[in-house]
Amino acid sequence: MSHWQELEHKYFMQTVERTPITLVRGQGARVWDEAGRQYLDFVGGWAVDSLGHCHPVVVQAVTEQVKTLIHTSNQFYTIPQIQLAELLVQNSCLDRVFFGNSGAEANEGAVKLARRYGKLHLDGAYEIITTYASFHGRTLAMVAATGQAKFQKPYTPLPVGFVSVVYNDVEAIKAATTHKTCAVMLEPLQGEGGVNLPGEGYLAAVRDWCNEKGILLILDEIQTGLGRTGTLFAYEQYGAEPDIMTLAKGLASGLPVGAILAKDRASVFTPGEHGSTFGGNPVACAAGYATLKFIIENDIAGNAQRVGEHLASGLESLKQKFQFVTDVRGRGLLMAMEFSRDIASSVVAACLDRGLLVNRLKPNALRFMPPLIISNGEVDEALDILDKSLE
Ligand SMILES: *Cc1c(COP(=O)(O)O)cnc(C)c1O
Repeated sequence: MSHWQELEHKYFMQTVERTPITLVRGQGARVWDEAGRQYLDFVGGWAVDSLGHCHPVVVQAVTEQVKTLIHTSNQFYTIPQIQLAELLVQNSCLDRVFFGNSGAEANEGAVKLARRYGKLHLDGAYEIITTYASFHGRTLAMVAATGQAKFQKPYTPLPVGFVSVVYNDVEAIKAATTHKTCAVMLEPLQGEGGVNLPGEGYLAAVRDWCNEKGILLILDEIQTGLGRTGTLFAYEQYGAEPDIMTLAKGLASGLPVGAILAKDRASVFTPGEHGSTFGGNPVACAAGYATLKFIIENDIAGNAQRVGEHLASGLESLKQKFQFVTDVRGRGLLMAMEFSRDIASSVVAACLDRGLLVNRLKPNALRFMPPLIISNGEVDEALDILDKSLE
């Protein structure tokens, strides 16, 4: 262990099993550790570093904003948050925005918004239907919303008002809907829970059901949004516009921002009902505005789509070559590879030795979330390392 790693073990709450390298610098799709070793980054800050590391447009926007105005309270108007809100609304099906600081906080706000809607329009309905294998964040309420026992068991009793049903089964949602239901909350494509794709027609059927019942559809696009799956938002590919959508991860290329977006009819907060001290912070929003503008103007979602196909076909070839690779799945630059045995940790270690960072999604699966600006050449480099590591 290096000096810094020893200090981490001494002073930090041990909530993560970290990869044993200390990163000190990043550029594009590459990062460097304290010994000067270079790595190709297919973890991408957990799908956060959309424009890669230290992209010039982000560096410039942040630098200028830091020199001009770092923070005010939301008692005052500030420009970067309004610019970012306008760009989000102009490029999505939603009408209004609220900014927080993380994904979990955005989802908490979305649930509060749905409960307000329930009080105003659904006779006090407050329950939210979510799915198993979902992931909605680490706050207590979002742990309750997340349909995975491993996140819930250590913290019971959990806040009430959430029911989880099987993913990819609209009948299960119908069966769970009662007079208490105010919304269904889904990731269009489950990320942390396994990179699980929605079945043909699933999201559209859920949308129809929500319309029929007059309840809200909340899409958690925290991982899938901002071009990750090959379109600016994943809902565009599935014919299911949300009433409320949450964003975070890739929105500001690494600065902390979370956002709740809502259609006008679902946008029912009134002054004082929700808030955040740091949310909409000028520096984070300047990074978000620069990131989103670059993504839109340079069709970065299209790049994620094209390079994602290249990555998918390379992973497919590896599946043909190695019998213990049982599945390759995903969309755009959010891909997973599954094995017949629990070898993901040793594959991650073998890739690390050869200079490639990948995420262990499950004991038997890897996840790939490189920057959206990555090239076919860099993908080939990663595939070559993965090939050798699987060997
Ligand atoms: C990461 C993630 C969250 C939580 O975001 P934080 O910023 O870690 O709070 C919520 N939902 C989804 C789909 C995520 O991928």
